[in-house]
Amino acid sequence: MVREISAGGLVIRRSDSEWMLAVIEPQREHGAGTKTILALPKGIVDAGEAPEQTALREVQEETGLLATPITKLSDIKYVYVRSWGDKERVFKIVSFYLLHYESGEIGQIVPEMKIEVKQALWIPLKEAARKLSYRGEKDMVRRAQEYLQSHPEVQA
Ligand code: ATP
Repeated sequence: MVREISAGGLVIRRSDSEWMLAVIEPQREHGAGTKTILALPKGIVDAGEAPEQTALREVQEETGLLATPITKLSDIKYVYVRSWGDKERVFKIVSFYLLHYESGEIGQIVPEMKIEVKQALWIPLKEAARKLSYRGEKDMVRRAQEYLQSHPEVQA
């Protein structure tokens, strides 16, 4: 089976009283249905690139935010069928990192990225496990929440 290795980020930011998480609404492929998808920013790890670097780069490209690493959370794995070409089955591994917001305005992305990202938005971290579309990404949110609970030194 074809393999893809990606990396992505959970960018968190403290608003007045709660943690917020940066998420994206990916552009749907033509005919892929009408349900709104909410997902984490991520992308393919380039040759020679460290996955953590990929996560920071993809976060910047897809959300417009600059962030710094806090910790690696975990990997998720899934299989999907390519909608293009010879419709190959792909085994995919995505490494996710917990990242701290540094700067930037969410959604300020270059026009070329708008082909991939319909919008980027902050949502409360405590609603994210419910609102994200994919099970593996919901799990990542729970891990992020556990990490923050056991590491109160992570500050706004
Ligand atoms: P990347 O963001 O890594 O560059 P991509 O946008 O080409 O990759 P995916 O986001 O992996 O590809 O989407 C490919 C297919 O997998 C889509 O049909 C999507 O709905 C599905 N998919 C995406 N994320 C997950 C997930 N966490 N769990 C299960 N299926 C997923």
